[in-house]
Amino acid sequence: MSDSRAKPIDLVPVGERMRMITWFRLAAAAIILVAAWVAPPVGASSETVTVVVLSYVAAASAVEFLWRRAKKPWPSTFGILAMADSALIVWCSFGAYGLDSPLRYLLVLQLITFSLLASFRTGLKLALFTTWLLIFAVYSGEANVIAGLEVDNVEFGDPTFWHLVTDIAMLLGAAIVTAAFASVNERELRRSRYDLERLAELALELDDADSPAAVGAAVLAGINDVYDCKPAVFVSEQNGRWKVLATCGFDETAVQAQAVPSISPLVERAVEEARTLLVANTGTQPDPLAQSFAPNANVIILPLAGGGKRPAAAIVAEYPARRGSRIERRMVSMLERFATHADLELTNAWLLAEVRAAAITDPLTGLANRRQLDRVLEEACAQATRGHGSLGLMMIDIDHFKKLNDTYGHQTGDDVLKVVASTIASTRQVGELAARYGGEEFSVVLPGLEGDALVAAADDLRRAILNMGGEIAVTVSIGVASVPADGTDRDTLVAAADAALYRAKEGGRNRVVASAPIPSVLHELKAS
Ligand code: GH3
Ligand code: MG
Ligand code: MG
Repeated sequence: MSDSRAKPIDLVPVGERMRMITWFRLAAAAIILVAAWVAPPVGASSETVTVVVLSYVAAASAVEFLWRRAKKPWPSTFGILAMADSALIVWCSFGAYGLDSPLRYLLVLQLITFSLLASFRTGLKLALFTTWLLIFAVYSGEANVIAGLEVDNVEFGDPTFWHLVTDIAMLLGAAIVTAAFASVNERELRRSRYDLERLAELALELDDADSPAAVGAAVLAGINDVYDCKPAVFVSEQNGRWKVLATCGFDETAVQAQAVPSISPLVERAVEEARTLLVANTGTQPDPLAQSFAPNANVIILPLAGGGKRPAAAIVAEYPARRGSRIERRMVSMLERFATHADLELTNAWLLAEVRAAAITDPLTGLANRRQLDRVLEEACAQATRGHGSLGLMMIDIDHFKKLNDTYGHQTGDDVLKVVASTIASTRQVGELAARYGGEEFSVVLPGLEGDALVAAADDLRRAILNMGGEIAVTVSIGVASVPADGTDRDTLVAAADAALYRAKEGGRNRVVASAPIPSVLHELKAS
C-alpha cells in the first residue's frame, strides 16, 4: 500500500491555502493603506497606520516563510495568523476611525476567507474571537486597549450599543452561513474523494484476482469494508442455477455457503432487466437464495451480465438501512461502480479460467487430458509416498475399438468415446481424477485405494460400461496398479498398470487384471 493511500491528502494542499490567505492579507493591507492616505484616520496618524500595517505584513510573511521551511507543520499557524489579521483589521477600522468605518467590512471578508480556506471550525472560532475583540475594545474604551477608539461608557439601548450588536450579528452570521454552506460542499467533496480512493483500492485488489472466485471474494471484501454490507454472496450462473463463488460475513463460511440455494428469481430478474434491485424485506419475497442468508433483511442485488460474453453473475448483499428500509442513494451508486469494476474483471478472470481449463481438458470427452493426468499422478504418487498412504491407478482400454471404427465410422467411434468417458466420470468419487490417456485409452487416479478394493472398483466400472446400453455393445479391459505395492513413482505405476492391461487383453478382454507386485529381486537389481 502506497503512502498516499495510507495518509489521505487534503482537498486543497494546506500550502496553497496559506498562499491564498496571504493574498487576502496583502489586499486588505493595500486597502487600509490607501484609506489611511485618502481619508486620514482620527484615532491614529496615517504614518502610524502605515508603519503598523507594513510591519505586520512583514512579520506575517516571515512567519509564513518559516512555516513553509519547517520540517514538521506547525498546527496552530493558521489560527494564530487569523487572530492576528483580525486584530489588525479591528485596530485599523474601529481603532483608527471609530465604529462607523467602512473598513470594518474587511472583517466580514476575512471571516468568509478563513471559513472557506481553513475550516468550518476555524471560521466560527475566528468570528467568536473577533466578537470578543470588538466587545473588549468598545467596553474598555476608556483604557484604549485598542488604541484610539473614542467610545466611553456604552450603555444598553444606546445607538452605539445597537451599532455594536449589528456588527457582531453580521460577523457571526457571515461566519455561520459561509461555514455551513461551505461544509456541505466540502463534505460532498470529501465523500467523493473517499469513494474514489476505495474504488482505486478495489481496482488494485481486483487486479490480483485471477479467478472468478477471487474476483467475487475481492469485491465482497471491498463492499464489506466500505459499507458494512454483510452477509453477502457472489453468485454465478451455471446451467440455469446460481452457484456461490464467494461469501462474506457468514459465521461458518464454507458450511453456510453450500447451504445457499441455487434458485433465485430476484437475481434472475436483476440480470434480465440489467438493473440494481433493492429488496426491502426478503421475508416477503419468495426467493430461496436471498431468504436463506439474509432472512427478513434488506438486500441489494447488483447484476454483472458481462455483456453476454460469459455466464451472468450477481452480488447479493444485505445493506444496513437508514430509517426503515431506506438505502442512501450515494451508497447504491457506489456499489454499482464496484459492480462495474468487478464485471470487467470477472470477464477477464472467466476467460483466463476458460483458457486454463482448456489447457488441461480433453476437448472430445471433457475429461482431464494427458498433461493434467501426468501432473496429478506425479503429485499424488509423491503425496502417497510421503504420507505412507496408498494410491490406485486404472488403465482402461476399449476392446476392439478399431473394428468398431471400421464398422460404424469414426463419428460413431467418437460418440462411443464420449459415452464411455461420461460413464467413467459419473462413477467417480470426490478426489478421484478421470483422464483420457490417449486414443481409446483412459486412466483413473484413486487416492487411498489399493488391493482388493481397487480391483473391485475397477470391476464396477467395467460392468457399468458393459451395461451402458445403446445399440453398440462396448467392453473395456482394465489394468490396475497401486502405490506402494507396484511402485512409488508415476512412470513405474503407469508401466505396471499398462502391463496388467496387456495381460487383460491377452486373457480374453472385458476383464480387470491387477499388476503383479514387482519381485523384490528387481528392486535389488535397480538399487545396485
Ligand atoms: P484392442 O482390443 O486390442 O485394444 O484393439 P483396438 O482395436 O481397440 O486397439 P488398437 O490400438 O488397434 O486401435 C485403437 C483404435 O482407436 C485405432 C484408432 O483409429 C482409434 N482411435 C484413436 N483415437 C480415436 C478417436 O479420437 N476417435 C476415433 N473415432 N477413433 C480413435
Ligand atoms: Mg489401445
Ligand atoms: Mg483398444
